[in-house]
Amino acid sequence: MTLENPTLVLNCGSSSIKYALISADNQTRITGLAENLGLDTARIKHTHLDGEKQEVNIAGGSHKLALQKILALLEQYHPIAVGHRVVHGGREFSEAVEVTPHVLEEVKRLKILAPLHNPANALGIEAVNAIYPGLPQVVVFDTAFHQTMPPVAYRYAIPKALYDDECVRRYGFHGTSHAYVSERASQLTEQEGPHGWITAHLGNGCSATAIYDGKSLDTSMGITPLEGLMMGTRSGDVDPGLHIHLKRTLDMSLEKIDTMLNKQSGLLGVSGLSNDMRTVEQAADEGNEDAKLALELFSYRAGKYLASLSCALPTFTGIVFTGGIGENSVSMRRSILEVMRHFNIQADYDKNAELVRGAEGNFHLADSAVELWVIPTDEEYQIAEETRAALNL
Ligand code: ADP
Repeated sequence: MTLENPTLVLNCGSSSIKYALISADNQTRITGLAENLGLDTARIKHTHLDGEKQEVNIAGGSHKLALQKILALLEQYHPIAVGHRVVHGGREFSEAVEVTPHVLEEVKRLKILAPLHNPANALGIEAVNAIYPGLPQVVVFDTAFHQTMPPVAYRYAIPKALYDDECVRRYGFHGTSHAYVSERASQLTEQEGPHGWITAHLGNGCSATAIYDGKSLDTSMGITPLEGLMMGTRSGDVDPGLHIHLKRTLDMSLEKIDTMLNKQSGLLGVSGLSNDMRTVEQAADEGNEDAKLALELFSYRAGKYLASLSCALPTFTGIVFTGGIGENSVSMRRSILEVMRHFNIQADYDKNAELVRGAEGNFHLADSAVELWVIPTDEEYQIAEETRAALNL
């Protein structure tokens, strides 16, 4: 196994860095994770090319120290470029771009829209710059894929000045995942294009997108990743009047409401047990009523959203499931499709049951109105591809 001219893909979070070194032909990769950054327990979990695992203790280590160690572990393979996953590209970025001082400033400025994520992404870019000043870097935005949405999908029905002056609009996230699985579905289907897909990325965060001819036309997340589907710990849609109601009745602060909606809701909030679908499914199987309701709410809301997103598509070719839940939960896929009962969707539920643990394939019957696909997402591959394309490599 060799790793010719590899691209390093970095996903720098507030306390973690996920990385993958991917060969130019995408056939080989080395992956790893630096976690608990800034704490005594900071460490790097690295998997070598031959599969051997190594743990490097970097107690108290910062992003910069972690990246120094990661780059040292990978130095022998001579990465030729770095692609960074950046959460928010605002209205400015509709595709991946090479990092320049101006681009870096923009990533930092856009923390106004992603206060937790963009600063960590910028730290990663600066650290690589300091260690390898000559190495070309590219930023791949989670929002960029959705910049093709028309105003009717991205505007909120609120005063225009908030859009004009404050960039208040819907942006959408998980763009690299929606782009990857929809492209893959278009390669796999036997139907002639252009295709209209609804992609359901169901992981800890959940979002769905309507994609026609490779372009995002509408998506479930908004100015923040809170809008839309019910998620692991996020509520998804609530009445915007809920904030004022909780302030009036419980004197809850905006910060508390924000934490409640982002961290204590979703599967966790409704089940009272866990944000993890496996735990909730198991509890429901054992008869826990709150867990059963959490699953019903999750599938009902997902089905309702997928149905509504079909309004954005000129033609509806099929649904693509991805993310940890979309790729593995046979029963959740079935429940979601049962919610969409007026679409004449005909599923082969034996085939559905076989599509787990990284399997890629379809499970629609020949007379189904739309196709049904399970496609494991590969954001790292997508970021490496977009990085090379932005640099003409
Ligand atoms: P992230 O959004 O953090 O990348 P993932 O895409 O890995 O998360 O998805 C995590 C979710 O996938 C969790 O809710 C987990 O329970 C769920 N999941 C993973 N495997 C299974 C499985 N076999 N059955 C049901 N749910 C699963």
